[in-house]
This record gives sequence, C-alpha cells and structure tokens, in this order.
Amino acid sequence: MKVTLLNYTPDPEITIALAARTCYSSKIPLTISRERAQHLIRQLTERGHESVLEHASFTFSIEGISRVTSHQLVRHRLASYSQQSQRYVSMEEANFIMPPSVAGSSEAQEVFLKAIEENKKVYQELVKLGIPQEDARYMMAQGVATNLVLSANARELLHIFSLRLCNRAQWEIRELALQMLELVKDLAPSVFEWAGPPCVEGNCREGENSCGKPWKRREK
Ligand SMILES: Cc1cc2nc3c(=O)[nH]c(=O)nc-3n(C[C@H](O)[C@H](O)[C@H](O)COP(=O)(O)OP(=O)(O)OC[C@H]3O[C@@H](n4cnc5c(N)ncnc54)[C@H](O)[C@@H]3O)c2cc1C
Repeated sequence: MKVTLLNYTPDPEITIALAARTCYSSKIPLTISRERAQHLIRQLTERGHESVLEHASFTFSIEGISRVTSHQLVRHRLASYSQQSQRYVSMEEANFIMPPSVAGSSEAQEVFLKAIEENKKVYQELVKLGIPQEDARYMMAQGVATNLVLSANARELLHIFSLRLCNRAQWEIRELALQMLELVKDLAPSVFEWAGPPCVEGNCREGENSCGKPWKRREK
C-alpha cells in the first residue's frame, strides 16, 4: 500500500480559523495568528462547532489496496473518489493483496497463491475468448489490488479516523487510515491531535466487543 498526499487547502488551520471567526465578527477577518487560530479551533471543536472543519480539504492518492478495503472505504459518503476502472484497465497482470494471516502460514500462502494464479488464468482465458474486460472481471477475487484518489474535508477525515483506526476495524483499512493520519497530522495539529477512535477520549463504543486495549493517544 502506498498513500501520498497529493494536495490540500493551503494552511488548513488558518483557513478554518478565519471561517470560524467570521461567525463572530462584523467583518470577515483576513488574518489571524497561528496561536489564536489553534486556540479557536480547539475551543470550537470541543463545543461541537465542527462544521468549520469543512473548510479544509485533503486529497490522497492510494495505491495497492484490495477491493475489499476500497469497498469499505467508499461507504464513507462525504468523501469523493476516483477509482481505477476494471472495465478499462486490464486485470491480466493484476496484483493481489495477501492478508498477514495468510502470509504468516506457508501452507495458507501456497493455497492463496495457487488460487490467484488460477484466478488470473481464467480471466485471461475469458478475455481471449472475446469476453469484454467488464464481464471477465466478474470472477476476480476481492483481494485484487486497486488504486484510487480520495478527497475529503477535515471533518470527514476525523470521522473516518474515528471508525477506521479502531482496533476492531480490519487490518488493511486501519493501516490505510493510519497512513492518512500520519500525512495530515502535522499540517493541522489543532485539528488532528485527538484523531482516532472514541477510546482516545476514554469512551469505547464497542461495548462487549471492545478490544480492551485503548488506541494509543498520540503525544500533543
Ligand atoms: C467496524 C465496522 C464494521 C462494519 N460492518 C458493516 C457491515 O457488516 N455491513 C455494512 O453494510 N456496513 C458495515 N460497516 C459500514 C458502516 O455501517 C458505515 O457504512 C461506514 O462506516 C460509513 O460510516 P458513516 O455512514 O458514518 O460515514 P459517512 O458516509 O462518511 O458519513 C459521515 C456522517 O455523515 C452523516 N450522514 C452521511 N450520510 C447520511 C445520510 N444519508 N443520512 C443521515 N446522515 C448521514 C452521518 O452522521 C455519518 O456518520 C462497518 C463499519 C465499521 C467501522
């Protein structure tokens, strides 16, 4: 998996804070110090005035995740996506993502790799028979790798992080969320310093399914 930050709102904290100050000023303010911006963001988000976070957006390129994970990811409806098409891009040389549980067992690995080879062979045979790629792909396994570009504002990113950094989320989307957080946390520390599942603040929502191991709070 390779996650890259392609672009983002220049100076996210200042942009958010200027938007927020507009709510309380007779004129739209054009400048604010870093210190005041961070103080304001912390104060407002604590009070639940989170819509101001929507003024900063981030665009990531995400390469080499499984379709299992991309399917989980695109359930987040407030983000925007452009995903590699299996209609237009041939899957003949497709890569597959091997879960660590499979990689950790030589027997399981062998079964998995054999199935991938068979999977590709059937796809290639169908294409050779004149079946369009868009139909041949019906038999590709869910572990097939895909690429996509995701854009989301800071509020939605915090929401994604709260659900997908939880120890109960699946390993691949958790790894993806962690890489995304690593890329943005220093660009807007006052926004992302508490990013993570609810247990970061001490309230696990998983009830009896709780992992019992609170997600590690990052240093402020
Ligand atoms: C551990 C885990 C297990 C899961 N298991 C399953 C499963 O077995 N089956 C399954 O189908 N899904 C499953 N999901 C997906 C889950 O139900 C959500 O679809 C997904 O997490 C996206 O969350 P969301 O809807 O809050 O987020 P987003 O779509 O990112 O929306 C963000 C927020 O905007 C608001 N919002 C967005 N759209 C609407 C709307 N139409 N109406 C009202 N408010 C809206 C809500 O407050 C929402 O929380 C699972 C998710 C997790 C994290």
